[in-house]
Amino acid sequence: MTEGQVVEVAGGVYRVETAGGDVEATLRGKLKQGRREAVVVVGDRVGVRRAAGGRCWIDAVRARETTLARRTRDGRDFKVVAANLDRLFVVSSVAQPPPSTVVLDRMLVMGEASGMKIVLVFTKVDLPGGRAGAGALARAYRQAGYGSVCTSVVTGEGMDEFDRLASSGSSALAGPSGVGKSSLLNCLDPSLQLRTAAVGRKSLRGRHTTVTSRLVSLPSGGRLADTPGFSDVTGVDVAAADLAECFPEFRPHLPHCRFRDCLHLEEPDCAVRQAVGRGISRTRHQSYKAILEGL
Ligand code: GDP
Ligand code: ZN
Repeated sequence: MTEGQVVEVAGGVYRVETAGGDVEATLRGKLKQGRREAVVVVGDRVGVRRAAGGRCWIDAVRARETTLARRTRDGRDFKVVAANLDRLFVVSSVAQPPPSTVVLDRMLVMGEASGMKIVLVFTKVDLPGGRAGAGALARAYRQAGYGSVCTSVVTGEGMDEFDRLASSGSSALAGPSGVGKSSLLNCLDPSLQLRTAAVGRKSLRGRHTTVTSRLVSLPSGGRLADTPGFSDVTGVDVAAADLAECFPEFRPHLPHCRFRDCLHLEEPDCAVRQAVGRGISRTRHQSYKAILEGL
């Protein structure tokens, strides 16, 4: 058996990168059976077996280190769309559309649940008030434990830093539509722009409309997951009891709440609530409550 990584998923055919080059493989029947979820997604590490006649089968799927999930079309469930990615860029514009901290915090929770490293990207800093706005957001989120980069594709600022961050390992971008995700990607790899412009749509999927997802190699050496559907950032797939863990700045306080199952709402002797204004911002605690209510 040869080991490899799935770099493209297109209608039941999986392109697998192996030490000996790429192979196209399909799933073994036994892997397909009895599973509601996608058994193999882009980024999966798999074992490939060559059968007589040159056919290749995916025979085994290795344990996933990270999983990026998004809501299903009916909005009721979540499905994993990419695995083993290193980094999630959570993208928010500082204006047009104005940033929403609760949307941002939902994406951060999604990112925490994925196991990926998170980097915030504040875009469109060239717009009026953009630099001040981005600076304030960057400071607020640094307090919460997140690094960020402030960018403009108009002036080019922050783009070298963004490019450098994306140049190692593999990344994905999440953010509401209109915040500038495609514009960022086009700066990383102008050939993506050509591909998308050629079919007159914003999606990175380009002309291969049957392609579900791919891992694109960037000129800088990094890889980027091109998985559709990451502008829907309304849902998070976390149990109520685990939500506080997805707020990094809450973590040091969690062991000090009186009740082990404290939800940090109205409970007496809640260490999280006591830290609001002293290490935890009111806005983040409000986001926590809003997200908890929506679970
Ligand atoms: P996406 O939906 O997140 O992929 O967003 P797009 O990349 O399509 O950008 C949405 C709009 O914002 C487009 O009209 C872009 O030209 C504009 N835009 C993107 N980045 C910037 C930026 O850095 N500065 C300004 N002023 N506009 C931007
Ligand atoms: Zn508490």
